[in-house]
Amino acid sequence: MSIKADYLGMPLSIDELDGENLTYFKFCAEHNFHLQLCESCNLLRYPPTTACPWCMRAAAKWVPVEGRGAVHAYTEVQHAIQPAFKAFTPYLVLLVDLDTQKGRPSAQEALRIVGNLTTAAGKLAPRDMVERVGIGTRVRMVFSDVAPGLALPQWTIDENAEQPKPWRYAQT
Ligand SMILES: [Zn+2]
Repeated sequence: MSIKADYLGMPLSIDELDGENLTYFKFCAEHNFHLQLCESCNLLRYPPTTACPWCMRAAAKWVPVEGRGAVHAYTEVQHAIQPAFKAFTPYLVLLVDLDTQKGRPSAQEALRIVGNLTTAAGKLAPRDMVERVGIGTRVRMVFSDVAPGLALPQWTIDENAEQPKPWRYAQT
């Protein structure tokens, strides 16, 4: 069954043929983060796909994965393309290296999960929070409920983690 919802004025949909994403988001709707574990080479993968990017085999099982990591890269959006996002600028789009499987199968690899910076309640973060986050910030996963059956995995500052001084673009 497909998923259709509206998120801040944007239509979101997952087609019924996209079985991997339907399963992924079914777990997200329950605020559980699961990824596919290859039954051949035993590596996790992201985003959800039909075959393993490492060994090309299809057999995989869904396993729970801890949603913790550090910011690998970020974009700070100042000019919203979607009008509904205007009220939330500046907001952050984060690419986060999960702690799980970091450095495998090669030293430069990580499971890199995209999400916005949000409050612990899953609302897009206010400016004072945005300005504290940069490359290296420790974050934990939270979920933004969009509609029945759909929640988006997002990131918030991990207040219990020891925080490095994050790298940020020079501020003007
Ligand atoms: Zn594999």
